[in-house]
Amino acid sequence: MSDSFMHNHQAALDTQREDNSIQGLQDAGIYPDPSEIYEDDLIDRYVKDLTPIELDFLENEDNELNTCSKCEIIKNTWDTDEFKWDCDHDLKGYTALCCDCYEKIGGEPYV
Ligand SMILES: [Zn+2]
Repeated sequence: MSDSFMHNHQAALDTQREDNSIQGLQDAGIYPDPSEIYEDDLIDRYVKDLTPIELDFLENEDNELNTCSKCEIIKNTWDTDEFKWDCDHDLKGYTALCCDCYEKIGGEPYV
């Protein structure tokens, strides 16, 4: 085994370690940066399942997303087939509901 083999092998190990740490950051939600997050990526997911950076996007960035008051699934604010507001519907005390929760609680449109 030559010195250069050892050297190359060590370099490969270092690269491996870097990959692992980036993966760790991605798992922890530190990557990607908020400019790489898209609203469509968050729709139909639950607030509790978001990474910290996605949560930051949801709460602090300008977006058209909203969450169900009951199950906290994320929907597009303007998608009235998927998302019901208390100004248009009787939501039994909730502010906004996804269509699933809307059916479950027996929500009704105001007439
Ligand atoms: Zn819901």
